[in-house]
Amino acid sequence: MNANLYTLFQSRFPQDLDACWLETDEAQYYSWGDLERGSAKIANLFASLNLPQGSRVAVQVEKSPEALMLYLATIRAGLVYLPLNTAYRATEMDYFINNASPAVVVCSPQNFGWITQLAFKSGTGHVFTLDETRQGKNSGSLLSRALHHAEQFETVHKNADELAAILYTSGTTGRSKGAMLSHGNLASNIQVLHEAWQWRADDVLLHALPLFHIHGLFVAAHMALMGGSKTIFLTKFDSAAVLRHLPQSSVFMGVPTYYVRLLSDPAFDAAICANMRLFISGSAPLLTDTFSEFIERTGHTILERYGMSETAMLTSNPVTGARKAGTVGMPLPGVSVRVLNAVDGIGDIQVQGPNVFAGYWQMPEKTAEEFTVDGYFKTGDVGRFDVEGYLSIVGRSKDLIISGGYNVYPKEIESIIDEMKGVMESAVIGLPHADFGEAVIAVIVPQAGAALAQSQIIQQLKTTMANFKVPKRIFFVDALPRNTMGKVQKNILRQQFGES
Ligand code: AMP
Repeated sequence: MNANLYTLFQSRFPQDLDACWLETDEAQYYSWGDLERGSAKIANLFASLNLPQGSRVAVQVEKSPEALMLYLATIRAGLVYLPLNTAYRATEMDYFINNASPAVVVCSPQNFGWITQLAFKSGTGHVFTLDETRQGKNSGSLLSRALHHAEQFETVHKNADELAAILYTSGTTGRSKGAMLSHGNLASNIQVLHEAWQWRADDVLLHALPLFHIHGLFVAAHMALMGGSKTIFLTKFDSAAVLRHLPQSSVFMGVPTYYVRLLSDPAFDAAICANMRLFISGSAPLLTDTFSEFIERTGHTILERYGMSETAMLTSNPVTGARKAGTVGMPLPGVSVRVLNAVDGIGDIQVQGPNVFAGYWQMPEKTAEEFTVDGYFKTGDVGRFDVEGYLSIVGRSKDLIISGGYNVYPKEIESIIDEMKGVMESAVIGLPHADFGEAVIAVIVPQAGAALAQSQIIQQLKTTMANFKVPKRIFFVDALPRNTMGKVQKNILRQQFGES
């Protein structure tokens, strides 16, 4: 059997290939036939380059339907897809290109000059451009070259354990590592999610996430492909565009920031969500306030799930059954999740399953360090199971603060601060301290117009928690630094306040 992931999707395409696959915000329509033919042409172009199987195709382009076709063409052709965040600049790109030595690089036309220099220096043979504006002959060299190729392509045979993609981790500490995901990893995960989220053929996905990250590519885009379902495709998240398309959609996937932004729009209400079946959140913790406010405003309970580049999705709240705020639900079928080295029930989250990656690209020692002797991957997250088997994430083990020999979990303190009057949100970090090793510090974003005082907050916290957990200092800021996926960048806070 051909385990190439594309053949799985192909087996799920609707009978009528003229049916709509993607609809864009500019009312452009792409059929399933367009996807077949478009990906075949690009795959034929790649085949004409005579690249060895398993060659990497590194891609840094803006989001577009063609970018999604490029991804599918790459796996069809038996090559390894390597998506890169569009925010990366020259030093970062130099690292990725050097580390992955891709045979092909695809970039935006405006970056062609400097990327070509980096790529050729690292031995890359081919650099193409893809222009998301897709204006005729300005669509870039990839599509203009692909145009001359045949619109049929026999998807290359792959075994389940052969590589489909490399996802570089966000690298908030140390260098970014390339997580190697096989065709089998991705296929098993999307099949499990398809069941767990009770996907229906008539579901319509509203896609607003970036395509260079696991959430937008291997959860959202894969899900609609697996369902043979229509996607309304937005090139970026924009509240107004989301509100415009929600009435025709049934499933929306977002990072918590998207939900906060939707709620801040007074036009967002239950009537707009009348056709919706499911709102899914992940990639960063969803505040319980957002969870509750969403129910009040729309009548919908956001379904929170948990996963990461190395493992794809691991746990999910149920579609039928209670979705619990502050939890990421239960392990997905076939995925084993355990909490080890627990103190008071809180410990290291470790996982095993057919979805867990094959290791870090060219880092065998790092890979070995991250697996236990009995084959579990150490996620680096810290959490606890409740009596009903729902998992809560307390933080990253690297964010754990050890103050005066005591373990302090930032999430616990953040949850209490977030509940205080006048507080919008907070981040708790550890900073070097002569006496305690690390001192607990809180960074707080006040609500508009709220006057908060450090002494008062500290006083209040002292009444609710052990002294060693109470922040020694509090800083007030207008906003917390976040990456594109909405994760708070605590390394930046540590740097900023470590020097003050
Ligand atoms: P990435 O590989 O960029 O998707 O990052 C994965 C990390 O995001 C995980 O290890 C978690 O720390 C965090 N994460 C993902 N989903 C959630 C969630 N629902 N709640 C809290 N943290 C999450």
